[in-house]
Amino acid sequence: LYDSPEFISKYTYTGNDLGVTYTKKATTLRVWAPTATAVNVVTYKESNSPYSSGKLTPMKYDVKGTWVATLKGDQDGTVFNYRVQVNGFNNEAVDPYVRATTVNGLRGVIVDLSTTNPKGWGMAKPRFSGKPTDAIIYELHVRDLSMDASSGYPAAQKGKYVAFTNTKTSHNGEKTGVAAIKDLGVTHVELLPIFDFATVDENNPTFNWGYDPQNYNVPEGSYSADPTNPKLRITELKSAILSLHKQGLRINMDAVYNHVSNASSFSQNLIVPNYFFRRDDNGNLTSGSGCGNDVASERPMVRKFIVDSVKYWASEYNLDGFRFDLMGILDVTTMQNVREELDKIDPSIIVIGEGWNMGGLPEDQRATQVNISKLDGIAAFNDQIRDGIKGSVFNADEKGWATGNTGRRGDVVAGITGNVAYSASVTANWITNDPGQSVSYVEAHDNLTLADKLFSSVNTNATTRSKLHRFASSIAFLAQGLPFIHAGQEFERTKGGDDNSYQSSDAVNSMKYKQRVTYATTLNYFKGLISLRKAHPAFRMATTSDVKKNLTFLNTSQTVIAYKLNGAGVGDKWGTIVVIHNAGKATASVTMPGGKATWKVVVNGDKAGVATLATLKSITKVSVPAGTTMVVYK
Ligand code: CA
Repeated sequence: LYDSPEFISKYTYTGNDLGVTYTKKATTLRVWAPTATAVNVVTYKESNSPYSSGKLTPMKYDVKGTWVATLKGDQDGTVFNYRVQVNGFNNEAVDPYVRATTVNGLRGVIVDLSTTNPKGWGMAKPRFSGKPTDAIIYELHVRDLSMDASSGYPAAQKGKYVAFTNTKTSHNGEKTGVAAIKDLGVTHVELLPIFDFATVDENNPTFNWGYDPQNYNVPEGSYSADPTNPKLRITELKSAILSLHKQGLRINMDAVYNHVSNASSFSQNLIVPNYFFRRDDNGNLTSGSGCGNDVASERPMVRKFIVDSVKYWASEYNLDGFRFDLMGILDVTTMQNVREELDKIDPSIIVIGEGWNMGGLPEDQRATQVNISKLDGIAAFNDQIRDGIKGSVFNADEKGWATGNTGRRGDVVAGITGNVAYSASVTANWITNDPGQSVSYVEAHDNLTLADKLFSSVNTNATTRSKLHRFASSIAFLAQGLPFIHAGQEFERTKGGDDNSYQSSDAVNSMKYKQRVTYATTLNYFKGLISLRKAHPAFRMATTSDVKKNLTFLNTSQTVIAYKLNGAGVGDKWGTIVVIHNAGKATASVTMPGGKATWKVVVNGDKAGVATLATLKSITKVSVPAGTTMVVYK
């Protein structure tokens, strides 16, 4: 029924007023319910007024499957739901477009959004070129920022949005929290889910990643100082975003449109049963996501819902980027529409996603890595360089090229080019249009942290592990592409070997800022790599042709990868840069390009940055110690 041309032409609504349209004089509600026989708005005196006390206002059938009602007067704060007669049932559902809810997201609340803006709201975003290769993304969970005793945050701020407004925290004289992030030098902070998710009781919060969407356009309540106050969390999140903007940091959000927490109780499913999710030939929900349901993004009104939701977050919350969870479940057209609409709001907004090949659509319609050529302006996580460097994330013991598995050298080489169409001898598993479509990384919230992966896959001592951590991280970080680091990676974050900590304790997950001191060498190394990358466009080439023209691999053994960057060709003040990664067990002697010359070292195994660490006078070969990266320029 839903996919028939008749249904699509009769019931595809294209207006921009689904959900609540608020004015002080009246509020109009519009809901898409083409198969319903009657729809009522039900309003409640209080958030917890009994079902039977609800006051019904009938909605009138309007156009394209939508129903409309107007509530007179100033409805700011009114608690409401829809009661929908459909398939012989009378379902009560939250408005899928709702922007505020009662605690735990059970009922919608009409709000005057103009009253939710914090003081100073509307300031310009931190400057950013808009080129993905100029970004450095830092992936962080709201609670992780502030829960540990070493965070320096007062108890009232721990685990809350408000922690982001405190930019002066420290522990034993060392920066923590937002101050530590600013100190690191990243450009974008990417927050794990901040939309309303289901699993955590907002009245009694515990840790959860939050990949269980409930109300897509509402901030999660467990991060609010008072989740029973529907407006407060909106203001708090905006204040957090404003505060980070003031610190020069841009903010991306994790967008989880591929599945919901509970398909049967999801608002859209109660209103239009079976429309929102994909089913197999036997009528069962598909689960390419592994979460019990896949959102049918290819259906026009689901696509519209996703695009409208992204637009809402980008404009109302002034966000700077989105990370699409399991993007491969979604279809190409939806992601293209997302990009087009974001370009209208602010073309400098970044979009990245997990382009894993999954879900039930025909393969050419999936928003996957192999279809990235159809997704200009959208980047995909590059698991080829990730696993090439450190070994598969699905096998804790497996080594990668950086830890002695020479068979993965080709994967690292491909990733260093940003998976562009570089040459016949470089085998990228998927080909980007430009390096900005390759998210280059070795650690994310999923799977073992790099430190834990090294612990389980390499039999060595702590000192060597630290060295390998810097080595592995530097390979991904210096590669062409869009670099992405996981919060705490800069101080060798460990989760004690927990590779799926989505509901583990704060003790496992939180940022242990003491490690910034313990692992100061690695922390400073990251700071140095970041400053190097920011100062030198040779590491941030934006086009495939720039990479092909200006990045040349040197002839080396299987345990060494070395490449020359023609800085002069991309406006870099360093004429020639050479990056050498030695994954061997012995010092490597690498013949330098261009004959005898004097080179300046800016990165070695322990230090990184733009300052000269050593000058190599009149050399033709350079010695690079085992398990280290060296960057030199002339
Ligand atoms: Ca929630």
